[in-house]
Amino acid sequence: PSTIPSAAGATPALAQWFAAKAAHPDALVFFRMGDFFELFFADAEAAAQALDIALTFRGEHQGRPVPMCGVPAHSVEGYLARLIRRGFRVAICDQLETPEEAKRRRAATIRREVVRVVTPGTVTEEALLEAARPAWLLALAPAGAVVGAAWLEVSTGAFETEAVPRGELAALLARLEPAEILAPEGLAADPALAPYAGAVAHAEPPRDGARRLAAAFEVATLDGFGAFTEAEIAAAAMAVDYVRATQAGGLPRLAPPSPRGGRGVLQMDAPTRRSLEILRDQRGGTRDCLLGAVDRTLTAAGARELAARLAAPLTEAEAIAARHDAVGFLLAAGAVRAAVRAALKGAPDMARALARLSLDRFAPRDLAAVRDGLARAGTIAAALAEASGVPPLPPLLAAALRALRPDPDPRAALERALAETLPARVEDGGVVAPGYDGELDALRRLRDGAREAIAALQLDLAQAWGVASLKIRHHQQLGFLAEVPAAAGEKLLRAPPAGGPHAPVHRQTMANAMRFTCAALADLDRRVAEAGEQAQRRERLVVQHLRRLCLDAAPGIAAAAQALAELDVHAAAAELAASGVWCRPEIVERPEFAVTAGRHPVVEAALARARGPAFVSNDCDLSPGRRICLLTGPNMAGKSTYLRQNALLVVLAQAGLFVPAERARLGLVDRLFSRVGAADDIAGGRSTFMVEMAETAAILNQAGPRSLVVLDEVGRGTATWDGLAIAWAVLEALHDRLRCRALFATHFHELVTLAGGRLPELALATMRVREWRGEVVFLHSVAPGAAERSWGLHVARLAGVPRPVVARAEAVLKALEDRARGLDPLSDELPLFAGPAAAPAPQGAPRDAGGAAAPHPVLAALADLDPDALTPREAQATLYRLKSLA
Ligand code: ADP
Repeated sequence: PSTIPSAAGATPALAQWFAAKAAHPDALVFFRMGDFFELFFADAEAAAQALDIALTFRGEHQGRPVPMCGVPAHSVEGYLARLIRRGFRVAICDQLETPEEAKRRRAATIRREVVRVVTPGTVTEEALLEAARPAWLLALAPAGAVVGAAWLEVSTGAFETEAVPRGELAALLARLEPAEILAPEGLAADPALAPYAGAVAHAEPPRDGARRLAAAFEVATLDGFGAFTEAEIAAAAMAVDYVRATQAGGLPRLAPPSPRGGRGVLQMDAPTRRSLEILRDQRGGTRDCLLGAVDRTLTAAGARELAARLAAPLTEAEAIAARHDAVGFLLAAGAVRAAVRAALKGAPDMARALARLSLDRFAPRDLAAVRDGLARAGTIAAALAEASGVPPLPPLLAAALRALRPDPDPRAALERALAETLPARVEDGGVVAPGYDGELDALRRLRDGAREAIAALQLDLAQAWGVASLKIRHHQQLGFLAEVPAAAGEKLLRAPPAGGPHAPVHRQTMANAMRFTCAALADLDRRVAEAGEQAQRRERLVVQHLRRLCLDAAPGIAAAAQALAELDVHAAAAELAASGVWCRPEIVERPEFAVTAGRHPVVEAALARARGPAFVSNDCDLSPGRRICLLTGPNMAGKSTYLRQNALLVVLAQAGLFVPAERARLGLVDRLFSRVGAADDIAGGRSTFMVEMAETAAILNQAGPRSLVVLDEVGRGTATWDGLAIAWAVLEALHDRLRCRALFATHFHELVTLAGGRLPELALATMRVREWRGEVVFLHSVAPGAAERSWGLHVARLAGVPRPVVARAEAVLKALEDRARGLDPLSDELPLFAGPAAAPAPQGAPRDAGGAAAPHPVLAALADLDPDALTPREAQATLYRLKSLA
């Protein structure tokens, strides 16, 4: 790509381009030239390639042709959308006056300025937004060990802040998936930001953040918005400054920033989200993921709200129960639910329309969206009001009902003011209905009256000029002209009728027609144009008045929009629960976990779509005393499905939805870890094993007694003994040190021996498998106990591996097992297996002796033991004594 030359010697217009480019070096400059936006130099080359449009040249600069490409102004949104999606930023340099105005000023060229910078995190146009996904702009301001984070959405006005420990930045990013990130240089290098490198824009936190923020929200102090840390304020000010800069000084309507501090969310790191496929499956699809399987919302705003809830489930029992109450009410009250959903269907996206109105970048349909959205809100409010009685509305629904009736309410005015069919753009005219504004009506009558006069004049001229086929037509540049066939035109030129206001004046000759005007027509032409212009000006004023009405009511409209989104989610959750066996989970504070007949919603839906066998439901019990479940079974038996399913139940339950199970009693989970499925990080250049260990380390460093850990095949990425050793140690750490609830699937049968004895809270489970008519049948049901270890060979035999090979494999297996017994780590004194928190293992084999279960009399006895002082016989006697204590 060519570099951009210096501005020296530029034409006046190109000089404006150079100025815009200098102010926005990291953006493509869209330079308005009449009906087109044009790009020059390196910008043109980049855009031509990205948009697949022709690269040409326009004029010369410093003796060389200027590379140029252009897009029509009327379809600019589509091109912007493609560029934004490809990671470009675009500075829109628009014409601020007409050529006539420039001429009047005697200026060398039309005044042009950058009126906004389009970036992924600051867009409001429908074409540039994904309907069902928020476009967060996230600002980060580091302060020592914490990072102030503020995220806002220009398209809805949502604005929140939080101070997070630096180590949790990656989890926050995974939760928000921001469209754009603002970070100072130092932080931008943080590895947590690496996956988002394309979305990062550099910005520095302002020093006087609190003052700037207070000014932006026109308050004396921020105290009324909640308790912020300095870092949060800095980040919030950064975000607001940036938005202002991209909107060329204008600020969209934003809700006051709301600190999230204290309102806990379920912590899930990026690998956990990937593994559980919450908002997206591992290939990026949106159908085979949790959201895709449970989404029954009817509006884009509802879909965004549901996605936000699944991405950030709650951790407070009361708040969760409030959501469950709302869902439960709408589940029981089927008629109310049906009424609510009928009104939601096709409801417009009021929040985003409001944002466009606030930025004065709106189309008539945005006004209609507010009108129609408020009408739907009214219908739903009536349905809810009718339903409130016995039982009373649960608090969330009662709050929604209040929000659905905003005050002031511009709906009546909009209903009267807006025309039945609206034009695409305000400039097209015809936005305001007749009868709303007297002055506009009068101007329109004048304009249309003149039109009638033109029709009358057409008759007069036809008569006066003796040309029956005369037609008065409107021409873009020349105004109204009388058109006659060529032959009649010749005659008029040769022998013009008498003078006066009807005397023909020739204007244009075409192949088979001629166009004339006359004093009367010119006069009418001027009157029509004037009346039209005046009507247009008046209409713009009326439209601005309507916009003002909406903005004055903005907080109420935004609250109503949010209430509609939340109702959509609650009604959708109820609809889903009504469609099958879904239950309200019981949320308790104690670390319990008891699921009866749970299902995996995504796999279940996929099986149903494929008309495959029915999904087999399974129980899961991780109650105190059996906190950790060790799951064995051959490949394809359904282990990972079972693991993920139980993690997903937690996400659904704490997000406030019902769960696919007959019964579920879930102790609140504060952190959820899932490592199921391939963990390749080819892009990151790390080996599978390295990734696996890094992720395991993250769990061991962060999980606690309220966490749920779901692990598949720890240690599979390395040699058998290494792998077993690591899996063993991890299992012990989960059991003894982290004391969390866990599901642990493994191929290492040696681990089975830890159950009951060494790790008393470890329970065994296995996927049931049958042989039937010479084939392996996976029953997909979970049973207590451990899998038979010969299943691998068994499956090989059933799969048709030649008999001699299977026989040989059996012999090899036996030899390996014999050797393994010789090297049995259990009978050696390998310190690795001594258990991190337990007392040193007694000499001899813990496999036979059982382990040291804390707290227990055996522990006391062990503490008194001096193994070096024991004879072999005494040692054996001690073992028997310990066993009797166990
Ligand atoms: P594993 O992890 O043991 O290799 P998976 O969990 O990947 O096995 O399951 C393999 C396939 O078995 C799934 O794709 C699904 O089609 C089917 N399956 C798993 N669990 C169930 C179930 N509970 N009911 C019905 N089919 C299941």
